[in-house]
Amino acid sequence: MSGQAENGMNWTADTENGHYRREANCTVLTPLLFLKKASMASPERTAIVYGNVRRNYRETYRRCCAYASALNQRGIGQGNTVAIIAPNTPALYESHFGIAMAGAVINPLNIRLDAKSLAQQIEYGEACIFLVDPQFAEVARAALSMVRRQVLVIDIEDPAYAPDIRVGELTYEELLAEGDPLFDWALPSDEFAPISLSFTSGTTGMPKGVVANHRGVCINAFSQLICWNVQQYPVYLWTLPMFHCNGWGFAWSIAAKSGVNVFMRKFDPERAATLILQEKVTHLCGVPIVYDMLLKVFLLKGLQLSHTVNGIVGGAALSVSTIKDAAQVGLELVHGYGLTETYGGPALFCYKQEDWSELPLMDQARLNARQGLVSLGVQDVAVISDLETMTPLVADGVSVGEVMIRGNAIMSGYFKDEKATDAAFAGGWFHTGDLAVMDPDGYVRIVDRAKDIIVSGGENISSMEIEVVLLSHPLVEYAAVVAKPDSVWGEVPCAFIQLRSEQVVSEMDILEHCRKHLAGFKMPKAIVFGVLPRTATGKVQKHELRRRIADFPAEQIFAA
Ligand code: ADP
Repeated sequence: MSGQAENGMNWTADTENGHYRREANCTVLTPLLFLKKASMASPERTAIVYGNVRRNYRETYRRCCAYASALNQRGIGQGNTVAIIAPNTPALYESHFGIAMAGAVINPLNIRLDAKSLAQQIEYGEACIFLVDPQFAEVARAALSMVRRQVLVIDIEDPAYAPDIRVGELTYEELLAEGDPLFDWALPSDEFAPISLSFTSGTTGMPKGVVANHRGVCINAFSQLICWNVQQYPVYLWTLPMFHCNGWGFAWSIAAKSGVNVFMRKFDPERAATLILQEKVTHLCGVPIVYDMLLKVFLLKGLQLSHTVNGIVGGAALSVSTIKDAAQVGLELVHGYGLTETYGGPALFCYKQEDWSELPLMDQARLNARQGLVSLGVQDVAVISDLETMTPLVADGVSVGEVMIRGNAIMSGYFKDEKATDAAFAGGWFHTGDLAVMDPDGYVRIVDRAKDIIVSGGENISSMEIEVVLLSHPLVEYAAVVAKPDSVWGEVPCAFIQLRSEQVVSEMDILEHCRKHLAGFKMPKAIVFGVLPRTATGKVQKHELRRRIADFPAEQIFAA
């Protein structure tokens, strides 16, 4: 045998040996099994805490089985959309499982929508059932008067909310009572079957319907559990609206670890702080403003966490002070980046390197405020400098490229919009529309949404760069910068500023501060003080600011 390798198995012809995908080694990936398995492994463990309501995994699973069975009995299953408008309540949670276990698609609607937009989304999403929380009874009634489809309306009862207004023929508990709690529901025959339809919150305009599939949701959950510090039996506080991108997928993921879901109808920082301490919350997620409000309560009351609380912050750019405050309170905050199209993700995760902890707090905060490292978890992320040649960006912390993602937790596509889907997936990558730089250590910093970049006199200006400078002014609480069309420069940057409570600052003071940190062409040409308009998820509505600034009196625009 000398010098010759012994003939091994012929791997190229491996399928001839019967080694291929079969029923025994490949079953559908779906998050619905997380709940079933939790009900078997941890039947007595608490799944839901909501005011006085506490339900364990056995009860919760049985309620979801009954839900699915009742829907099937009413002829609702594969190919049907079930819309729901509700804050973070057990009914919305159960809908994420019950509707999907019936084979149908959950369509959680934004709780801030007006009647006309609600009606449009019910029509567009082709909902045949609409579940309504009593808080939204009036707006739902008004919406339904504009809907031409036949829709079965179901009222969710909630003893924690008064008045109890009914708009439908049936209540949620009556529906569940129709079903069989031991129902043997069917797995989807195809893991790519749709599970959810989410309309994006529209920070950039008209919402698109993002379709999520069973496989993607399941793999997204694995990714979250790989990347984040989630032990068995976490206690998850719902500070993120579940209607938004299924609460970044956590509506399903927490069941994979038999975790407790602690609900609040509305985010109230005082109540959230109390629940964190009382229920020994271990995990939560939210956009930066949610943490700012929560941390303020802890800091004002001098509270310190005595148990480990992990928080993912994302959805919008993060200020260094949020990270600093979190460190002071003892909250383990990690920055993530994702989109509804990537199941919330995070697709980028800002892992903390061990040696960062030796740095001064402000330096640590600066490093942690970056969106994170590419290609962790289950997605591949690339920052591309030239879309024609797909050239990767040089990691010099200065050059700008577009963030692209591909992997197994990417939406199926936009509902009934093949053109938009094709455009979003062009070249085999999902185009995020976000622009970023990459630091030499490989960490990505989002500098702007492509739509938000300001082009002034042929120069690109990052709105976020100006926002960071404004936020470093001690009296500025929140800041947002948008472009105003300008006959000379094309566009000029204009700043909207929300001051810390009861503070007064002059425009001149703000300009003085900016001048110390910004080049002349990046200086804001108008400053408007006031409360920033936000989406239901807490993101600033820049399209609304653009509308406001378009009508701004010309004499109040500073000379460029
Ligand atoms: P929309 O806000 O359009 O409804 P999403 O909720 O899916 O849609 O928001 C995704 C967008 O939010 C991203 O494209 C990006 O612009 C922004 N975003 C998400 N996470 C971060 C982050 N950590 N830092 C900065 N921007 C972020």
